[in-house]
Amino acid sequence: MLAGIFRQASRLLLPSDCTTCDQPLTDDPTPFFCRQCWGHIRPLQGPACPRCHRPFASPSATAYSPTHECHDCRTRDPHYTQVWAAYAYSPPLQDAIALFKYRGKVALADSLGALLVQALPRNLETDLLMPVPLHPNRLRRREFNQSLLLADRISPVLHRPVSYRNLVRIVDTDPQITLPRSARLRNLRKAFALRAPQEVIGKRVLLIDDVFTTGTTVNECARILLESGAQDVAVLALARSVDAGMMPDSSLPPSAFNQREELRA
Ligand SMILES: [Zn+2]
Ligand SMILES: [Zn+2]
Repeated sequence: MLAGIFRQASRLLLPSDCTTCDQPLTDDPTPFFCRQCWGHIRPLQGPACPRCHRPFASPSATAYSPTHECHDCRTRDPHYTQVWAAYAYSPPLQDAIALFKYRGKVALADSLGALLVQALPRNLETDLLMPVPLHPNRLRRREFNQSLLLADRISPVLHRPVSYRNLVRIVDTDPQITLPRSARLRNLRKAFALRAPQEVIGKRVLLIDDVFTTGTTVNECARILLESGAQDVAVLALARSVDAGMMPDSSLPPSAFNQREELRA
């Protein structure tokens, strides 16, 4: 029984098993993940909407008209010019982002930043990096802004500064509550402000976010930046939610981490 208690305690102190597959960790370079699982994280490739990077099911979708946008972009006409999303939001990356963001595992920032750096598009031109801000209440609870940690790791590669005080979130919208799109949009309107709007005039701004889902948050940030005179707003996200049938091939079993999360919920 003592041995059992000791094993339980050491599991709490040291992450001894891979978060995704539950195999014991040895000398794996990424915290909380085995080499094999981490190696399954592959950049999103193939035809995608040139505006929001939504992968297209048919490879011929952009064969004849490379500027063909998805239905959402054509009907909603977002304020941002382009989204670069590096990876699909699926395990093990999804597990890593959850640990990083909701469990405060800041040790993952370097590994996640490295993934984003590896997948940086070559034609990316920008003047200023801006992480999507958290409301001060949430920042106080979480103690760090995950998007700022990512921006900090891209800044030396792109040789562009990070602006993290100018764009602020002034309304605390709760992302845990699932609202219909119209209510979500209403909540987001006026959720952001610029402290020094003159500083974005004529600038090409790159918004940095951890996960791109519906794009409503970054779109609202883009709107306020353009209204203040920014020349262009693009988005760089570590991961993008992808329709079920569009997941990249993976031989991974369903994530042990997510199964545990579901049990807990
Ligand atoms: Zn693993
Ligand atoms: Zn699109």
